[in-house]
Amino acid sequence: MVALDEALAKARARFVADNPASRAAHEQAAAHLPGGNTRTTLFYPPFPLTMAHAEGCRLTDLDGHTYVDLLGDYTAGLYGHDNPVIRKVVEAALDRGWNYGAHGRDEALFAAVLCERFPSLELVRFTNSGTEANLLALATATTFTGRDTVLVFTGAYHGSVLSFGDKDFPLNVPHRFVVAEYNDLADTAAVLDRHADDLAAILVEPMLGSGGCLPADPAFLAYLRRRADETGALLVFDEVMTSRMSGGGLQELLGVTPDLTTLGKYTGGGMTFGAFGGRADMMAMYDPRRPGYVAHAGTFNNNVLSMAAGYAGLTELFPPPAARELFERGERLRARLNAIAEGTPMTWTGMGSMLTVHFGTGEITTPRDLRPAPEYRELFHLEMLARGFHLARRGMIALSLPVTDRECDEFCAAVADFASHSG
Ligand code: PLP
Repeated sequence: MVALDEALAKARARFVADNPASRAAHEQAAAHLPGGNTRTTLFYPPFPLTMAHAEGCRLTDLDGHTYVDLLGDYTAGLYGHDNPVIRKVVEAALDRGWNYGAHGRDEALFAAVLCERFPSLELVRFTNSGTEANLLALATATTFTGRDTVLVFTGAYHGSVLSFGDKDFPLNVPHRFVVAEYNDLADTAAVLDRHADDLAAILVEPMLGSGGCLPADPAFLAYLRRRADETGALLVFDEVMTSRMSGGGLQELLGVTPDLTTLGKYTGGGMTFGAFGGRADMMAMYDPRRPGYVAHAGTFNNNVLSMAAGYAGLTELFPPPAARELFERGERLRARLNAIAEGTPMTWTGMGSMLTVHFGTGEITTPRDLRPAPEYRELFHLEMLARGFHLARRGMIALSLPVTDRECDEFCAAVADFASHSG
């Protein structure tokens, strides 16, 4: 432990010495933003880096250091930082003007491609964020079923007001939530049995993303599908992060089709975005031509930048073969990292292009198995930054399309170097 403390003190001191401009920017920002921050995920002590510029899969901070960006904006940055196709369609959209206060031409094209690709999507609606998409999916479920209880899982993150990593998160919306252990059939069965009659929705990430990149056991998802059918609850897959796992998301890859799906992050081409959709009989409640329809408003739901960038991204940059290729690159990288980690306390979990490093021993299949190890995480993060790699403080990586085998090789070498020094 002394060795860890010493290594951490050294890494922190080096980080502070190397980043005076980021430190000054943080201190200045703290005058008007609480803690200098408006997106909690981005904060880490002693202060977070402030970026000045980004290109491809590279970020440059205010002090002039350039990093390979392995975080890909927590999956939102799939297309990299300056993709010419995205730039072209966004510029073309700007050329046509914005803030129509009316229908535009791209929203229907975009909706069509989403419904073609995702098995559960018969009809879809757009929102401004993944959080909002999940709020709307839950509201759809409670309205459609006339019930009020929502089953969620430990470790789940469905948005800033739908967070189940910590017990009793104070900002959560006041749905009647019941929580079961992710990937634990017995615990889930017990909760389901207690609430079979009042369950409106089962909301689940087919892989926990923020919760540590823990893939769902396919049998767990199949069980949820069966119990949703038996109880009349709606099965909602939050694919805000995992939709990248194949052309049709993790639902297509695993062959389990939910009633409703939520999307966000990269699906808007890097612009502000969210979507929820699913069975036509449910989504039809939002059809304003029908008597008694339910209104779902939103000033920016069809904003021209997200509609244009999202459509071009899916059709021109991320067709199903590209999704397959990215998935395989991530699988290869995780296998290599776990080979490097053998004999150390490091383990890499995940699936495809999303992975997270954990420190501790034993197999990790549910959030219960996670070891927090904040000192190891901080040391790893600072050591990777010092070697020129940007990733999340919590150890998460989300490969973007501009990341090639070369960057993966360089990262493996950096992790091997870290492992050999921290034994
Ligand atoms: N759902 C999942 C699985 C997420 O990972 C996130 C964000 O990290 C959200 C929902 C919320 O999306 P947003 O940040 O766009 O509100």
